[in-house]
Amino acid sequence: MTTVSLGLPRLRRPPRDGADAARFGSGPLADQHGRTARDLRVSLTDRCNLRCHYCMPPEGLPWLDRARVLDDEEVVRLVRLAVRDLGVREVRFTGGEPLLRKGLERIVAATTALRTDEGEPVRTSLTTNGIGLHHRARALADAGLTRVNVSLDTLRPDRFAEITRRDRHADVLAGVEAAAAAGLAPVKVNAVLLRGTNDDEAADLLRWALAGGYRLRFIEQMPLDPHGTWRREDMITAEEILSALQREFTLRPRPGAARGAAPAETWDVLGPGGLGPEGVLGDVGIIASVTRPFCGDCDRTRLTADGQVRTCLFSTSETDLLHAMRGGADDAALAATWRSAMWGKLAGHDIDDPAFLHPTRPMSAIGG
Ligand code: SAM
Repeated sequence: MTTVSLGLPRLRRPPRDGADAARFGSGPLADQHGRTARDLRVSLTDRCNLRCHYCMPPEGLPWLDRARVLDDEEVVRLVRLAVRDLGVREVRFTGGEPLLRKGLERIVAATTALRTDEGEPVRTSLTTNGIGLHHRARALADAGLTRVNVSLDTLRPDRFAEITRRDRHADVLAGVEAAAAAGLAPVKVNAVLLRGTNDDEAADLLRWALAGGYRLRFIEQMPLDPHGTWRREDMITAEEILSALQREFTLRPRPGAARGAAPAETWDVLGPGGLGPEGVLGDVGIIASVTRPFCGDCDRTRLTADGQVRTCLFSTSETDLLHAMRGGADDAALAATWRSAMWGKLAGHDIDDPAFLHPTRPMSAIGG
């Protein structure tokens, strides 16, 4: 068995002196490279009910001690702080599997009640494997959730069972349909293609997504597996995905400006009718974090289930808000600590650099 070391997060020094207080005492989450974080990813648990082999070993991982996981009030306090004082405008709940969190609807409702610095409602979304979503989609919509991203790597139940080590394909499809019926739209579907497993399904997945009115996003596999066995040459690249799709569809790239800070490059899928808007059947995106990194436009900040700020999925350091908060820090001090952490965000993740260091936590423990 491979031993997975989750390691202890390295703590960044919280602001202490007068200069730090002046620099980090107010304003949004800016960094030294001119970016401002507007999009907060909140992991609500590191646990999952699937065991996707590129994400988690069959026996699961050494889960966080429950006492170290932020409770619902703590999550809401930090989200409120992020929106009210730090300029966050969009919140995505993730995990692990966020539907395993009993208080999810309550957390979503408290989040959607907030207003951004522009006076707008906070856009909220959920990244989920979809299991159980058909029971909860309506309640989540009633709580104000804007939309969902459902992860689905294959249309074939046998492959799904092989990839996830669980026979739950029908539950995921039911979850996708229920989300659309509840108005959690647009429903986005995330797929990771794995060489020799499901890499022949790119076009089938797109055909299915277009028929259902879902927005498909392929994600390049990233070095965030728990075993540290990811190899660049095994990964299905954006180029390969694009070529597979172009064998069956006519794709027209959306202009770069339309992308903004979105991680996906997007193409319109054109029907046989040609180029007019009536000929656009839908769109497809590719999140090419490895081969076409988009760090320069990144507007994300992350909070793990145990209250650590991460400036990037690939960070090798974290900033501890959990113990600061439980130690009695007030909102102003927590906000200054968060600003200070974001100020130190690196320019890029450098996956392609030979000196690249794998993060000490796998994707499921960070929040994907
Ligand atoms: N359980 C939820 C779900 O399934 O969407 C949220 C967490 S999961 C870690 C989020 C997404 O990360 C999923 O779409 C999953 O396929 C993707 N993922 C996991 N490991 C990955 C990796 N090494 N590279 C790229 N995507 C990965």
